[in-house]
Amino acid sequence: MEFNQYEVNALMFITNRPQIVFTEGSGMWMTDSTGKRYLDYLQGWAVNCLGHAPQCISDALVAQSKKLINPSPAFFNEPSIALAARLTANSCFDRVFFASSGAEANEGAIKLARKYGKKFKNAAGANRYEIITFDHSFHGRTLATMSASGKPGWDTMYAPQVDGFPKADLNDIASVERLITDKTIGVMLEPVQGEGGVIPATREFMQALRALTKERGILLMVDEVQSGMGRTGELFAYQLSGIEPDIMTLGKGIGGGVPLAALLCREQIACFEPGEQGGTYNGNPLMTAVGVAVADALLAPGFLQSVKDKGAYLRQGLLALSEQHGLQGERGEGLLRALKLGKDIGPQIVEAARNLEPLGLLLNSPRPDLLRFMPALTVTHAEIDQLLAMLSTVMRQLGH
Ligand SMILES: *Cc1c(COP(=O)(O)O)cnc(C)c1O
Repeated sequence: MEFNQYEVNALMFITNRPQIVFTEGSGMWMTDSTGKRYLDYLQGWAVNCLGHAPQCISDALVAQSKKLINPSPAFFNEPSIALAARLTANSCFDRVFFASSGAEANEGAIKLARKYGKKFKNAAGANRYEIITFDHSFHGRTLATMSASGKPGWDTMYAPQVDGFPKADLNDIASVERLITDKTIGVMLEPVQGEGGVIPATREFMQALRALTKERGILLMVDEVQSGMGRTGELFAYQLSGIEPDIMTLGKGIGGGVPLAALLCREQIACFEPGEQGGTYNGNPLMTAVGVAVADALLAPGFLQSVKDKGAYLRQGLLALSEQHGLQGERGEGLLRALKLGKDIGPQIVEAARNLEPLGLLLNSPRPDLLRFMPALTVTHAEIDQLLAMLSTVMRQLGH
């Protein structure tokens, strides 16, 4: 395929991409090779929590790259110690393992739970390895995390699957209870299902899940790859329901755009022995130095409150838009929100929004009847107004 001056066939085909090459980004905006600018509500798939190319990330990368890029994971380094300290000081967790992607962090979480299940057998002496996950959940694209995911079609795509991930229904505690056996070691969920269509677990469900898992001696594992790092207005989404899980994974926002992820657990669960977990890039100082800069920005006084305020503002705007165009309302937490279209016009809107002139708008439709918004947490009220105005234009253009 060829467009403008680009010949793109050397890249392996994995999905249909628009004929655009992005060359620059700043805050909520990206620019393509023709100079057209786009208001970006994807932000690298919810990774750029501070927007495109923020100064603090650029500074951290430049400074750290001149000092030390990778001493090997066999040695301690300063930025990984500093970032782990920030994460444990601001959560209910005591130990952190760094990884490079959300899927890798989740693989680590699954291994940690299985190891824990082997070490602490139940009263009957059974080896516990099953982890209950949920329909429509998304945990990554490795074989084990695909098996853990409840995405339709993924059970057969690369069959056979990794065994041991029975699926329950989100917000239905009885469906979880029914699946518990003497082989169960954990329950893993996204506090807000992201790829599944921005479906929050209710406060009551999270609390019931904590009570049930505690009572049955099972680990509660939260995949906060999308919902963590300030996205919901709390630093971590589990804090919305006032519970304390046993294991958490982070990705996306933790690196502000660079490959960084983390697996966290409480001290009594940190049971890996030498050689059982690792990875060439884990905790490398170049990426964890970025993580420190991101964490400091999110923890600055007033920052998380501003996410809550702007989340409420976006919610009001989406509700008004929904009213105006006869849609089905909206849902979400903080700055992870979705507009319910009521009909399968999502992909059509995404394309028309991108093609708006002179300024384009980048959106995502995780399901055909839904639009998802995952702006930078630094988005301004004016940029939210601009989104709503552009969306309204597109809806009129398409006759909705
Ligand atoms: C994106 C995502 C993942 C996978 O993260 P990668 O960095 O793409 O491997 C896992 N879990 C959730 C909830 C996600 O949103």
